[in-house]
Amino acid sequence: MKVFIKGLNTCNQRDHELEVYRRFLIGNGHDIVSEQKGSDAVLVWTCAFRGDVRDNSLDQLKSFCQDAEGDSRIIATGCLPDIAPESVGDWFKGELLPWKKADPRLEEFFRRPGGPSLASEDSKIFIEPALCEDATAYRKANPEADVIFYDQFVKLLVAEGCPFTCTYCSERLAFPDFRSFPEDKLVAACKGFLETSTQRTVALIGDCPGEYGRDTGTDITQLAWKILGLHPDLKIVLTQFHPADFLKHFDKVVGLLESGRISHLNLPMQSASDRILKLMAREYNSAGLVKIMEALRSIGFTAFDTHIILGFPGETEDDFEATMDFLLTQKPRYVLMSRFMETSGMAASRLPDKVAEDIANRRLNDGERRLKAAGIICNSEAGNMMEERLKRLNNAQATA
Ligand code: SF4
Repeated sequence: MKVFIKGLNTCNQRDHELEVYRRFLIGNGHDIVSEQKGSDAVLVWTCAFRGDVRDNSLDQLKSFCQDAEGDSRIIATGCLPDIAPESVGDWFKGELLPWKKADPRLEEFFRRPGGPSLASEDSKIFIEPALCEDATAYRKANPEADVIFYDQFVKLLVAEGCPFTCTYCSERLAFPDFRSFPEDKLVAACKGFLETSTQRTVALIGDCPGEYGRDTGTDITQLAWKILGLHPDLKIVLTQFHPADFLKHFDKVVGLLESGRISHLNLPMQSASDRILKLMAREYNSAGLVKIMEALRSIGFTAFDTHIILGFPGETEDDFEATMDFLLTQKPRYVLMSRFMETSGMAASRLPDKVAEDIANRRLNDGERRLKAAGIICNSEAGNMMEERLKRLNNAQATA
């Protein structure tokens, strides 16, 4: 069969799943093709962590359905079938395959006798070379390419799933159970990579990599040091690093940062209002965030970015201002600012005092304007950064 794989994922982590599909299909004798035209099946990884990306996945699915030739099959996998299945209308004439429940139909459709299973491919370590040395320069030279900040680093998937219970999280509805990939295999994969590559900055990626090792008796700092021990020039990027994990391993994380071998830290704070953090069940408060910021400042570490949610149920003007004050004081390099998106299965959908859309939008616009005026890069649902990114993602010809 000729299969066109399309990744609509806006995160790095799911490149692992696309790679698993690619190996599974090739191992079972299928051809991966670079466009829908002439294909027997289109396999789409959908994304739905907030309204604009969910709608983009829906638009793309619609267009794949419209362009389907003959009895070519459209298969939608990924996060949308778990996060917002109700948003897929009668127009969808394909198969919706939930990721979390490991729907067996993919194997039924594509597995041939003696071919590899999805599970066997899924257990392999995912390490991906950097696409470029400098994402900004690459984007300038290749304006059509779908390149994000993290594409300038080698990516190593260290863990999958998330054990936290944040009330706003829609992705949790899709994630499989938390698992850490074995430390020895991760280190061996890095070692093998370094033997054939000159790239020396490795991003430890995962849905919640700060929890790495909770199921295997180790922790993220131990893994980082083992990887750093492979080469004196190596540096590490910590992504999706939950502030609660920073606080849990505080001295060890500070030790890593003090070594000068952490080149970037992504610390999703979501809010700086204690009331909202509690409603979000984030397991830290603003005092914890201040403690982290003071540690970063005392080390002179400024290479950090964050994620913020505005319009969470119960958010008042004071809560919004508390978050803005925090950001404008601490000056992250980049802020991903999202409007709270309710989906039926998330705990926050049962919270009272919903914030009206016009108020949430006003805060988003206001927040973006104030951050930009302070020289902070802001990717907001109100701005056009994600819109531009989604256009590039949709147009990208590359398969997994
Ligand atoms: S919903 Fe989240 S985990 Fe799923 S593809 Fe989108 S960004 Fe990645």
